[in-house]
Amino acid sequence: MKLTKKSGITLISASVLAGALAFFGESVVAKETAIVTTEEVKKEVKKEIKEEAAQKNELENVEIKETSGPKYIFAFVGDGMSYVQVNSAQVYNGTRDYKDEVSLTELNFTQFPITGNMYTQDATSFSPDSASTATSMLTGEKTHSGVIGLGIDKTTILETFPEMLKEDGYKIGIVSTVTLNHATPAASYAHTESRNNYYDIAIQMAYSNFDYFAGGELSEADGDGTQKNAYKVMEDKGYDIVNTKEGFNEIKNGDKVYAISPDADGAMPYSLDEKSDAITLADFVEKGIEVLDNEDKGFFMWIESGKIDWAGHANDAMANIHDTIAFDEAVEEAISFYNKHPEDTLIIVTGDHETGGMTIGQASTGYNTAFNLLDNQKVSYDKFEDIFAEFKSNNPQATFDDVLDLIKENFGLVPEENANCASDEALVLSDYEYNKLFNAFEESMKPRVAETEENDILYGGYDPLTVTLTHILNAKAGIGWTSYSHTGVPVPVYAIGNNAEIFSGSYDNTELFDKLASLYLAE
Ligand SMILES: [Zn+2]
Repeated sequence: MKLTKKSGITLISASVLAGALAFFGESVVAKETAIVTTEEVKKEVKKEIKEEAAQKNELENVEIKETSGPKYIFAFVGDGMSYVQVNSAQVYNGTRDYKDEVSLTELNFTQFPITGNMYTQDATSFSPDSASTATSMLTGEKTHSGVIGLGIDKTTILETFPEMLKEDGYKIGIVSTVTLNHATPAASYAHTESRNNYYDIAIQMAYSNFDYFAGGELSEADGDGTQKNAYKVMEDKGYDIVNTKEGFNEIKNGDKVYAISPDADGAMPYSLDEKSDAITLADFVEKGIEVLDNEDKGFFMWIESGKIDWAGHANDAMANIHDTIAFDEAVEEAISFYNKHPEDTLIIVTGDHETGGMTIGQASTGYNTAFNLLDNQKVSYDKFEDIFAEFKSNNPQATFDDVLDLIKENFGLVPEENANCASDEALVLSDYEYNKLFNAFEESMKPRVAETEENDILYGGYDPLTVTLTHILNAKAGIGWTSYSHTGVPVPVYAIGNNAEIFSGSYDNTELFDKLASLYLAE
């Protein structure tokens, strides 16, 4: 990044002006895309976007290199991934690699040369959701929480960055560990008032004409039961639907395909629960490169790790960290590609918002952490809920003592009387923790958890025993949680490659689109 010699005040006011313009929807995109019906009008809109984006970059005193824009763009989004999620993965790896030393083991993407800071609030909340934030990142406009690809009036269709690129001849790949009609992937191709319109979104996916979809399944593929199955609609639109490992291996360059994880149950499993021969997020990115690679225009990939967010909602640090590490391994595939095409490739890694109000350091451990204790957790909260549900159905009269083996096996935690069985003395439950867990177990054994304010705060709608187990183990490790929802913590942006410099600095999430658009349209 090259800053001019202008004063800091000029820089700030310029940035504020750009942000204000975006916030009040003064950009031409929102006004014009509502009436986009012909190619001609679309061209005109693109020209105006280019001018606007160029103007913003000028205002921010960031110089776009005189080279053409990147031919290959990878945009990775860790859903619910902010600074703490990233650093927790690094602390976890560092604790494992350096034992008693206090050292981080850095992820691949945190070593990128450019870092930015992105604000995430949407038009209606400082604690936004994935629908509005992904819409902002891909269209440059603010909208309501829950809205996908529509403006603040919930009517104006906002053309997305990948839609623009598709029209211009680029190949487009959309990858997610969750369902492909879930908010973050959907924001690349769909326009709908509610993120919950899953069937409608799936049909828009079929009509997107994007080249490669991969990861999880579709939610509500049968619609209301009378509608045509969405997978069939995808096939009608020319997509091969592949959901076996053999089929996956046969996918080749130029295929128009929707590759589904054979292990998906809606979403792909948590990395922590994955079988050793599973098709991983990294595999789907590697395959995406193979499918989309072309000498002509190039490609754009929008890749989401969606369950970092889900583990954040459930306050499960171990699942959170392992999905962040798997996300980093997926980024590594893009880095290998970048190393072959450094001049033509841009990689961006960011989050859409923070989830869970996660902290490193919490009340009962003060200045200490012990991330090594997390390794005693063998399965995600999600899998443990299944294990515990089976236990309950087999032992409807079970007492707390009956479940202690299951707890030790999956979380390493033991009561005081079994202290000699603990693999680490830190895993012995204090009286306070024991009582908390006992009460949670009692609540879990009831046919339904009582809807009280206290239960809402203690358990957040999750199985009381399971969420209390992750709370206790996480607290012992030195990890705190303040919410079962999203928070307003800004997110980091990491960038490497062609014109990566312009992603430096602090900016609103709408400016991610502005920056991307300025590159593409600068060609
Ligand atoms: Zn979420």
